[in-house]
Amino acid sequence: MTLDRRQFLAGAAGASATLLAGCAAPAPSAAPTALPSLVTTPAEVLMPKGKAPRIVVIGGGWGGLTVAKQLRRLAPQAEVVMLERNPVFFSCPLSNKWLIDVVDTSFLTFDYLRVSERHGYQFIQTEVLEVDRTARRVTTAQGSLDYDYLVIAAGIRYNYEAWFGNDRRAADAARARFPAAYVPNAEHVALKRALHDFKGGDWVMNLPPPPQRCPPSPYERACMVAWHFKTNKIPGRVTILDHKPRIMPIGAGFKAAFDELYKDYITYVPNAQVQEVDPFAKRIKTSAGDMRFDHAVLMAPHQAADIAWKAGAIGTNAQGKPTGWADIEPRRLHLKRDDRVYVIGDAVGEVAPTFRFYPKSGHVANSHGHIVAGYIAQRLAGKEPELKLPDNLCYMLVNGSPREAISVQFDYTVNAQGVIEQQQIDDNERRAGLVAENFRWAGLKFEDMFA
Ligand SMILES: Cc1cc2nc3c(=O)[nH]c(=O)nc-3n(C[C@H](O)[C@H](O)[C@H](O)COP(=O)(O)OP(=O)(O)OC[C@H]3O[C@@H](n4cnc5c(N)ncnc54)[C@H](O)[C@@H]3O)c2cc1C
Repeated sequence: MTLDRRQFLAGAAGASATLLAGCAAPAPSAAPTALPSLVTTPAEVLMPKGKAPRIVVIGGGWGGLTVAKQLRRLAPQAEVVMLERNPVFFSCPLSNKWLIDVVDTSFLTFDYLRVSERHGYQFIQTEVLEVDRTARRVTTAQGSLDYDYLVIAAGIRYNYEAWFGNDRRAADAARARFPAAYVPNAEHVALKRALHDFKGGDWVMNLPPPPQRCPPSPYERACMVAWHFKTNKIPGRVTILDHKPRIMPIGAGFKAAFDELYKDYITYVPNAQVQEVDPFAKRIKTSAGDMRFDHAVLMAPHQAADIAWKAGAIGTNAQGKPTGWADIEPRRLHLKRDDRVYVIGDAVGEVAPTFRFYPKSGHVANSHGHIVAGYIAQRLAGKEPELKLPDNLCYMLVNGSPREAISVQFDYTVNAQGVIEQQQIDDNERRAGLVAENFRWAGLKFEDMFA
């Protein structure tokens, strides 16, 4: 039962009387202290549902922020509730540049409450614990709420089980000591501290098997780390252990940067599939050889976020094993088994037999947010949604001074058989103009999500 304001005031009056009586200790038989009205438990109803259709958005990242804002614009009659565990938004895009102070923290962080107030959706800072798709109910750490439509925009999880099985101690040690910094939380701060405290030696970065969040960004990160070593004369060497047979995307641009700018600082190792990781002894064993490291950015394989699993959104492959990603209708972006539940951004599963996955990028998550807000608004208006496709554009800084970047663009079309096709354009020529374009891109995206 949710406590109402009267009960809260009664509890508060009792507490004041105790204080006035000279701070007497409560009698052992006293009833448990009543919870304040805004402190609720998972068993309670967090927000009773009114007549307006309600759309619940899980996750306030690139996808969730976009869909929530656009829903308020396109379906003003609907109630929109965003559930996010973090108190503040932190942008992973541009965070590699932040590692070497190209941008400061204020550039990457935004206040959820002010943005939600501006756009008229409800922001609740809470952990989503369960999704009951039959009852159309979401349970959070603070109570449950019913939905008409659900948008899962929860991003990724690290699949440490692939390395450590159910050894939580090893997984926690890997995450605490050698964080991947691929989800928006304190790991980024730990990585930046590790970089700036590094005195020299072997700095190892492994790349997980595809699909992974932002495929070119680990190479960009390697360039930033190497640039830091070179500029500050730190006797360090970055070894990139890539699961893939070659650098991709923008392979030629990154290779030129490794060879021409960081010859003495970066070693690139292809076909290095991780076989064993020991975060205590600082060792990594791969199909291309074993290494001891002084520091590492250990990237366990990526999968859709925990809550997508709990929502029963994950697909299975031909062998009946979980694919790790949400099983969606490729063009409609709702679950194949439940058209009231949409998935957007990085958690989205296979969309085409050729290229298989959309790039897991903020740009695509933002595109998905626009598209799905349109689909839901049209369905609420009793119309058949007009199907749309995302696009993608990524800029990667490869040089800190002078500042130079490379970029990759993806466009999508549908062929005569109704199958999505991908065109990829790599821009491998590093130059300052692309850095300026990158900042223009970031400004436009932040404006789209927050202004
Ligand atoms: C180093 C780095 C560089 C990158 N560079 C670029 C770039 O240049 N361009 C680009 O387009 N992309 C880039 N990306 C990728 C981009 O960050 C992601 O693709 C994008 O964030 C995906 O958006 P999303 O909404 O799916 O997930 P996210 O942005 O991760 O949002 C998911 C949100 O859900 C919340 N959440 C998850 N589970 C729960 C739960 N149970 N309860 C409550 N809240 C929950 C999380 O806290 C999170 O805020 C980069 C990523 C990294 C790591």
